[in-house]
Amino acid sequence: HLPNGHLSTTVLNGHARTAFLLDRNLHKSFPVVERGSGSYLYLKDGRVIFDATSGAAVSCLGHGNKRVFKAISAILSTGIPYLASTFWACEVVEELCKKLIDGTGGKMARVYLTGSGSEAMEAAIKLARQVFYENDPATRRVNFITREGSYHGNTIGALAMSGHPVRRAPYEPFLMDNVHHVSACNAYRQRADGESDSSFVARKATELEAKFQELGPETVIGFVAEPVVGAALGCVPSVPGYLKAMRDVCHKHGALFILDEVMSGMGRCGTLHAWQNEDVVPDLQTVGKGLGGGYQPVAAVFISSRVVNTLLNGSGQFVHGQTYQGMPVQAAAALEVQRIVEEENLVGNVKRQGLYLEKCLRSRLADHPNVGDIRGRGLFWGLEFVKDKATKEPFDPRLGVAQRVHDTAISAPFNMTMYPGTGTVDGFRGDHVILAPAYNVTEEDIEHIAQVTSNVVHQVFRKLGS
Ligand code: PLP
Repeated sequence: HLPNGHLSTTVLNGHARTAFLLDRNLHKSFPVVERGSGSYLYLKDGRVIFDATSGAAVSCLGHGNKRVFKAISAILSTGIPYLASTFWACEVVEELCKKLIDGTGGKMARVYLTGSGSEAMEAAIKLARQVFYENDPATRRVNFITREGSYHGNTIGALAMSGHPVRRAPYEPFLMDNVHHVSACNAYRQRADGESDSSFVARKATELEAKFQELGPETVIGFVAEPVVGAALGCVPSVPGYLKAMRDVCHKHGALFILDEVMSGMGRCGTLHAWQNEDVVPDLQTVGKGLGGGYQPVAAVFISSRVVNTLLNGSGQFVHGQTYQGMPVQAAAALEVQRIVEEENLVGNVKRQGLYLEKCLRSRLADHPNVGDIRGRGLFWGLEFVKDKATKEPFDPRLGVAQRVHDTAISAPFNMTMYPGTGTVDGFRGDHVILAPAYNVTEEDIEHIAQVTSNVVHQVFRKLGS
């Protein structure tokens, strides 16, 4: 273990750690990882950890993929890991973008590459505004509608879009006040007893419509949602019909329908993009994590022809840009990751193994008195923990239940990663963990994940005396 000081930036950047948990984590040291191979991480203390979360839902091919290393080496050997994307074109970048567009079935028209999911969200925010500004520089479209229980990134613009009170709290004075929230689409927490999908969705559409009316429909730029909510709620999928209903409200008012698929996209949910599950095409969409699989920092904004045409008929430019975007080395890594995903039919494996993971988790944990909900899609599953299953009352946040589950899982004899999250109920209370293994897991891997998860959950709650 390294002394804490060396790792303080890791702690401070940690996605999985809320401000609430920061203090306690500063007193901890992290296990030191020496190497990785497939789903396994090898620690300096000799332990071997099964990575059931792909880091933070990133390492979709697992660790140490030799083909991706080779692709990176090949581009390095050309001497151009970096090129200024504002001056130069590069074949590997073009090839990646073409592959990404093809993956949407041609339903999106362009790809704008960035270095992280937060940067992709920042670009999407500016592009969305520009759509209306191009037609009318005096446009009154200044408002975004996003959702409670959402996470769109940690930069100020992306954080402003996020409905994540804990992460927002210290920075509230800096966050744009033209972002307005409606409720999440969280069936476990919000659906009334016996309420059908269609009436639940209708309620959500009515709420969104009311928000448009409150703000003035002509002032709304767009609505932003994660099709399957990741970090903020723990793998909460949209109820069938929800995305369509939300899109229809947006389009009725000429506003944009924007999906953040930084976590849910690029195969994680069993289709290349979560929206393909319902065939609801967004006007703008962000992706990240699984795009480069952790082999390079790379993310992207998909742009629909509606948006592209507006820009082309206007200034023809997007006045934006960052140094480290569209780099050949980022593109080479992402292109190889995406080729492997396609050639090995890994999205099909995600779907198949995901169904098996659901079955294995439910058979072992559905009856546990502290497992309130098991939900997800593809290889993206969340467990929500409750103090009382009947009332769904969450645990006292001071118990740090999700963190305990994580800490127990990562320790011997379990040696498995689980991604902890808090703020499941109202942003301040509630506990969940996420499982998001690599896309190439086997049935045996799935059984291992489910069995370890079950053992960990039983041990943690036995110790808590629940
Ligand atoms: N959007 C979603 C849905 C995310 O889950 C994340 C990261 O977890 C982001 C945006 C921000 O991405 P990044 O951490 O790469 O900046």
